[in-house]
Amino acid sequence: MNIMVKNIRLIDPFLDQVGDILIEDGKITQVGIDLESRYEMIDGTNCICMPSFVDLHAHFRDPLSTCKEDILSGSLGAVKGGYTFINLMYDSDDSWDINKTLDYVYSKNKEIGLIDVHQSIFIGRHLDENTLEIINTISDKVKNVVVERSMNLSNTKLLEVMRKCKNDNLLLIVQAEDRNLPSGMSSMGEVLETSRCGILALETGCRTHFTHVSSKDALIVIKGLKEKTNKITCDITPHHLISTETEYPVNPPLKAEEDIKMFLRGIIDGTIDSIATDHAPQKKNDMLNGLTGAVGIELAFRLCFTYLCREQGLSLNVISKLMSFNPSNIIGIKHGLLRTGYNGNLTIIDPLNESAILESEFASKCSNTPFIGYKTIGKVIKTIKNGHVIFDLC
Ligand SMILES: [Zn+2]
Repeated sequence: MNIMVKNIRLIDPFLDQVGDILIEDGKITQVGIDLESRYEMIDGTNCICMPSFVDLHAHFRDPLSTCKEDILSGSLGAVKGGYTFINLMYDSDDSWDINKTLDYVYSKNKEIGLIDVHQSIFIGRHLDENTLEIINTISDKVKNVVVERSMNLSNTKLLEVMRKCKNDNLLLIVQAEDRNLPSGMSSMGEVLETSRCGILALETGCRTHFTHVSSKDALIVIKGLKEKTNKITCDITPHHLISTETEYPVNPPLKAEEDIKMFLRGIIDGTIDSIATDHAPQKKNDMLNGLTGAVGIELAFRLCFTYLCREQGLSLNVISKLMSFNPSNIIGIKHGLLRTGYNGNLTIIDPLNESAILESEFASKCSNTPFIGYKTIGKVIKTIKNGHVIFDLC
C-alpha cells in the first residue's frame, strides 16, 4: 500500500522536524521536505507522526476468558491506542497444549489481520516439570519466554532455563515477585527476585527483561545490574509510573509518591527502557471478587504524553524511544525509526486534543482502570500499518 503524510511533525528517538513521509509497498521510502507524490495523501498539519507503538506485555485473554477480551477486541483497542505490535502474555490453561495455543493465536490473529502479535509462553505456572523439553519443541515459534512468578523456579532450574534461552537466543521476561511473602511485602519480594534473577543472568549471559517494575528498590537493583551488562532491560506500566491510587487493585500493587519520583528518574537516566501496558481486562464483578488488573492499551500514549511531556517536560523523542524503538529492539523486530527501509507502521497524534477518560469509550470489552475521569492532552487520531490506515478517529 502507498500513502504520503505531508507537513507533519516527524518524531522518532533521533528526529524532530516538520516534513513529509512516503510509504510505498508498505515500507518507508522517503522522509524529507516538499516530497512529490501521486499517492493518497494525508494532511498532517499541526499533528505528530511517530513510529507506531510496541507493547511488550498485554493480556488479550484469548482463549481462556474471551468474555473479558479476545484477539479482535484487543486488536481494536491496540490500534486505537496507536499500537501495531503486541507481545501477548499466555492466557491459556492446562487443557490447551502449548503448541495448540500458539497455533490458535497466530492463525486467529492472521484472520483478523489488524496488528502483529507475538505469543509468549509462561514458565513457572504450566511448565515446571519439563520446561527445557517444551522450549525445545516451540523455540522456532517464539522469541521469548516469560517467567511468571519467578519464585516458583529453584535456582538450579532457573539457571538451566537461562542457559537454554542464551543458547537459543530467546529473551527471558521476568515477573519478579514472591507471593509467598505476607501481604504488604510485595516490594521486598520484587527486590529479592530481581536480585536473584539478575545474579543468575550475569552468570549465564541470558538476555533478561524485568517487566512491570513496581518498586524503587527493585529499580535500584536493575540500575546496578545494567552497569555490569547490556543484557538487562526493564519496563514499567503507565499506572505504576503515574497513578497514586494505591488502593486500586492491580498486581504488583501501586506505590506511593516516593517510588513514583524514582520511576521518573529511572525514565530520565535510561534505567527504564520501555513503557509496557500489562493490559489486563477484568469485569467489574471479578474485581469485586478479588481479581486484579487494569486496561492500558488504549490509554498508554495519552497518559504518558500528558504526564511525561506536558507535566514533566520530557521530549517526545523519549516517548518514542520508550514506546517504539526500545521495545522493538528488546523483542527483536526492525521498527521504531522513521527511516527509509523501515516498515510503514505509523501513529498520527493530535497533540492539542484535550479529553477526559470515560468509562464508555473503550474498544476493549472491559474498562477497569484507575484513570477514569483523568484529563489528558494529546490523542492518537490515526494508526497506519504497512501503509494502510487501520484506525481513524475522524
Ligand atoms: Zn501481566
